[in-house]
Amino acid sequence: MATVIDGKLAAEKVIATVTQASAALESQKGVRPGLAVVIVGDDAASHTYVAAKSRMAKQCGFNSVQHSLPGDTTQEALEALVEELNADPAIHGILVQLPLPKNLDSERVTQMVAPEKDVDGLHVVNAGKIATGDFETGLVSCTPAGSMLLVKQALGADLSGLNAVVIGRSNLFGKPMALLLLAANATVTMAHSRSKDLASICRAADILVAAVGRPEMVKADWVKPGATVIDVGINRIDAPERGEGKTRLVGDVAFTECEKVAGSITPVPGGVGPMTIAMLMANTVVAASRALGVAVPKF
Ligand code: NAP
Repeated sequence: MATVIDGKLAAEKVIATVTQASAALESQKGVRPGLAVVIVGDDAASHTYVAAKSRMAKQCGFNSVQHSLPGDTTQEALEALVEELNADPAIHGILVQLPLPKNLDSERVTQMVAPEKDVDGLHVVNAGKIATGDFETGLVSCTPAGSMLLVKQALGADLSGLNAVVIGRSNLFGKPMALLLLAANATVTMAHSRSKDLASICRAADILVAAVGRPEMVKADWVKPGATVIDVGINRIDAPERGEGKTRLVGDVAFTECEKVAGSITPVPGGVGPMTIAMLMANTVVAASRALGVAVPKF
């Protein structure tokens, strides 16, 4: 049976480091890391995510600021707020919660955030820095950064000689994840919806990362015995066994059968998910440390 990678525990360790670094910044510089979260409209799921982020930021000792704007906010008003936050020296990280209401141009807003405050790692400057291997000044998007920490926890920092397969090529996850694996010396294959014979591509993987959005797509016979399997997918499916109208969360990997073949595997929930919010806090303390010219904590 595979070792189940405990993402909650790994996230707690990240948060402990963040909290320590945040306290050190306050005692050395008299400044708390400032995280501004901007949310537009009343989408219930987005409000739940934003509340969790704000709560965690406070727990880390940050100056946590939330801007909740009405659903009829104009592009101009939203851009003016982002400009204001870009110029505010008390704010080191800015997160604009996506998706934005349909009348707003979210790509334009994302690209307006100052790259050094882009704690979501979505700015093209930060995407370019990952591509060129500049981890000293760039910010890495949170889910790939968190997934990479779990890989390194299982296999160490140097992945020389190992084959990695990433299923999914989104800008948000697949592409940056592949680049992080490459930077750690893995030999990387990116698979996607047009790939032929996905099962045999996956069977060659010492590290198999699935970020597709298809419930339990990866089966046991896709997994090389002993492989490290990182399941990024979050899919809500019907669970009639739990009662009428009930649902449950599953990943892109058929966990129960793959657990019997893999060497280590992340569960859903409790694997990659908790790492995403932890890495948002890590990016904020990194951005604040850089802005204030103090040693940047390592994660
Ligand atoms: P996305 O933008 O929809 O990308 C999905 C990728 O999967 C695409 O590259 C697509 O290929 C590929 N794909 C779709 N069907 C496929 C198939 N049958 N075989 C092989 N590849 C296939 O999604 P995303 O934003 O990367 O997210 C992926 C999953 O991760 C979702 O379940 C999402 O909820 C989850 N996620 C979780 C977290 C977290 O915090 N844990 C964060 C982000 C995302 P093409 O490019 O060819 O269309």
